[in-house]
Amino acid sequence: MAMTDDSESLACGRRRDTLYDHLAADALDEHELSCPHCRRAAADLAPVHRATVLLRDEPADPPAGFVEVLMARIRAEARRRHRLPLPADPPMRLSISEHAAAAVLAIAADEVSGVTVRGCRFPDPDDPTHVEIAIALSYATPAPQTAERVRRRIRTAARNHLGLDLRTIDITVEDLRT
Ligand SMILES: [Zn+2]
Repeated sequence: MAMTDDSESLACGRRRDTLYDHLAADALDEHELSCPHCRRAAADLAPVHRATVLLRDEPADPPAGFVEVLMARIRAEARRRHRLPLPADPPMRLSISEHAAAAVLAIAADEVSGVTVRGCRFPDPDDPTHVEIAIALSYATPAPQTAERVRRRIRTAARNHLGLDLRTIDITVEDLRT
């Protein structure tokens, strides 16, 4: 798969530290607000940002290099995310980073009207047929029908783009938006 595994950059090419700077300044640009990769990464970074704000508001200054240490930790975490085996005829072996596979499915789910993807992951490193997805729904959207649409989209995307027949798709509605 011609997808970058560079943990400094997102699949769309935006650098994580740029995104983090914009998030911290509460100034996400138009691309970052509409791009599923950026939105997902921003959702991942938001708790980190909240933690740094709490630390920053403490009387003592954070130690020098605090943000650098934090970013190094985030990058290490991204690298730790596993690789998933994909179906292939032997002797060829094919795998994809969990991050890239999840991004493919997150983009598919994001196309369903009224749905914003908050996160997508394969919880079991040995099972590429089990995916968990967290979404926000627009308030006017009927949840059961929309969840079913998400499920179908994800299943189709997994089959067409990854060659995977998903067995378990866990959908969590985290939020309702007006
Ligand atoms: Zn992006």
